[in-house]
Amino acid sequence: MSIALHWFRTDLRVTDNPGLSAAQSSGLPVVALYIATPGQWQAHDDAPVKLDFWRRNLLALESVLKAHGIPLLCLQVNSWRDIPARMEQLLPLLKVAELHCNAEYPLNERKRDEAVASVCQRFGVLMQQHLDQVLIEPASLLNKSMQPYKVFTPYARAVRELLPVTLPVLGINVQVSPQLPALPLVKTVAALTFADTNKKWEAMWPAGEPHAQQRLGVFCQQRIADYKLQRDFPAIDGTSTISPYLNAGVISVRQCWQSAQAWQDGAGVFTWQNELLWHDFYKYIMWHYPHVCLHKPWKLDVGHVPWRHDHSEFQQWCEGRTGIPLIDAAMQQLLQTGWMHNRLRMVVAMFLTKQLLIDWRWGERWFMQHLIDGDFAANNGGWQWSASTGTDAVPYFRIFNPVTQSQRFDEAGAFIRAYLPELSGMDNRAVHAPGLLRPAAYPPPMIDLGFGRERALQAFKRSSGDI
Ligand SMILES: Cc1cc2nc3c(=O)[nH]c(=O)nc-3n(C[C@H](O)[C@H](O)[C@H](O)COP(=O)(O)OP(=O)(O)OC[C@H]3O[C@@H](n4cnc5c(N)ncnc54)[C@H](O)[C@@H]3O)c2cc1C
Repeated sequence: MSIALHWFRTDLRVTDNPGLSAAQSSGLPVVALYIATPGQWQAHDDAPVKLDFWRRNLLALESVLKAHGIPLLCLQVNSWRDIPARMEQLLPLLKVAELHCNAEYPLNERKRDEAVASVCQRFGVLMQQHLDQVLIEPASLLNKSMQPYKVFTPYARAVRELLPVTLPVLGINVQVSPQLPALPLVKTVAALTFADTNKKWEAMWPAGEPHAQQRLGVFCQQRIADYKLQRDFPAIDGTSTISPYLNAGVISVRQCWQSAQAWQDGAGVFTWQNELLWHDFYKYIMWHYPHVCLHKPWKLDVGHVPWRHDHSEFQQWCEGRTGIPLIDAAMQQLLQTGWMHNRLRMVVAMFLTKQLLIDWRWGERWFMQHLIDGDFAANNGGWQWSASTGTDAVPYFRIFNPVTQSQRFDEAGAFIRAYLPELSGMDNRAVHAPGLLRPAAYPPPMIDLGFGRERALQAFKRSSGDI
């Protein structure tokens, strides 16, 4: 008997999963597939904390699928290049009539799926990719001149105009588990190779759809109304922390959008939905301008910025030893939790790219290697925003002063003290810039901020031909 195969990638859920629902709508028995690719993950700098999160969510998914009568077949190959050959073996053995998956937009993902599509074509299998990671299909959304949007605000307006008031959430049915032939090399989730695990991560970032939905529900009930006012203060639990779940696909962007819509109306909801649209926008940019996937600046005509490649200064930034408390506390948050507050991502990224004038690609890579929510498009977009090389990026002359940012967004120093216990005795003034009061255990500032700012301004001016 023929089957419909749903290939899970970063859509680790059963609720509101367009590919899985379409497979079920085929009327054929549904089988699920996951392909672990440790070599590819390493090449993409996927962080151990993220891989561990994927593993735990896959375990949860495996049991939910089982309860619905859907077997999950797990394969392991080294890289995406090995997938077409495996598909050639699997499709006829399983008698696959339809292959469903949810579309992914980075360049390598697109190449992987094109290669699998040509295998499907040879075997007469219908391959369908579904809209999942963004609210509107990127290829279909163009401005009045039939060009892709380059600026966020008109893009966001266009998406809002096109979205229906209610986004239906797709369900999943229980089926009679199909009888499968003996399949070579098929594993369980537990037998796949992931990075090291750590109990600490499990407690901070529990896996499974119910946890994601609960996190979203609590945020919408308790915090979304104040989101606009509170989202910039890292010591306040003011944001949703849904990003790891959203990027692993444990929850869909439609579910997030819809929950916000359903709870309350007001500035908080609008602002939060706008952030979801930033997530969309960077995927849209990546789709229309795939050169950003090749370590190139989005602004291809940006002059030659003389990025510095100073390993020792970069290391100080990575380890949170810059001597600027807010930067160091933020880098500790990343190392200790795998996540960093958005305001701090902007502050540390701008410190690296402007004050230190270090290549934004170094920072982008360090983030990917450590973030639980590392997402190519959002990370690349955030870094290019900070480095003033991206679409809709900050102008090069608007350089955040990290001490002023600290005084403004962590006024009482609560965030700094939480991550830098050596500064816990400092008063609310000195905690932002200890100066002569600096305890011996804490390093002096690695750079004079006035000097760094001037050096960056000159470098950018020269590169854009202003001088
Ligand atoms: C240098 C830099 C690197 C970043 N790297 C990533 C990354 O790898 N993965 C990632 O998901 N986000 C990234 N962001 C965006 C943002 O910092 C995180 O999405 C946010 O901090 C996640 O926390 P939250 O879920 O509590 O967000 P909330 O404030 O609750 O926002 C809800 C959701 O909106 C989206 N969102 C919010 N802000 C942004 C933004 N500025 N850009 C794009 N999407 C946004 C996220 O999906 C987020 O989960 C980066 C930002 C910068 C400046």
